[in-house]
Amino acid sequence: MKRAEFFASAAATFALAGLATRPSGAEQSYQVTRTDAQWRALLGADRYEILRRGGTEPPFSSPLIAEKRPGSYQCAGCGLALFSSRTKYDSGDGWPSFWDVLRDATRTQPDYALAEARTEVHCRRCGGHLGHIFDDGPAPTYLRYCIDGLALRFVPA
Ligand code: FE
Repeated sequence: MKRAEFFASAAATFALAGLATRPSGAEQSYQVTRTDAQWRALLGADRYEILRRGGTEPPFSSPLIAEKRPGSYQCAGCGLALFSSRTKYDSGDGWPSFWDVLRDATRTQPDYALAEARTEVHCRRCGGHLGHIFDDGPAPTYLRYCIDGLALRFVPA
């Protein structure tokens, strides 16, 4: 398959799955918007790099990997509740992991940054980059939301 065909095929797959994709560039429209300078000031350098630049924190660096208390995980950018402790599990991959997301909390888009095509996941409300979704998670969804801890704030129940 030619590269262009592969991209078209992947895009069609996402469209068929009913997954919203992030509009590119100036077309982006989210409920919570700030200028780049405002985001940087609000988030600090580390969180800004993840949420607004699509960076990835070093594996096994997040204290949230070991977080076991009941509660919710909010977007560090806008405070929207994204994940419940009920769907958190220890994937061993080096990042906080969940097998599901709270209803209508996130959006996804294909990510071709690496040789292997991945599914990027970001906050529905502010567009902040959270991590990626893989299909090797546990039942019942068999999904693994591999999320940067710096993109989250844990709020105990
Ligand atoms: Fe957000």
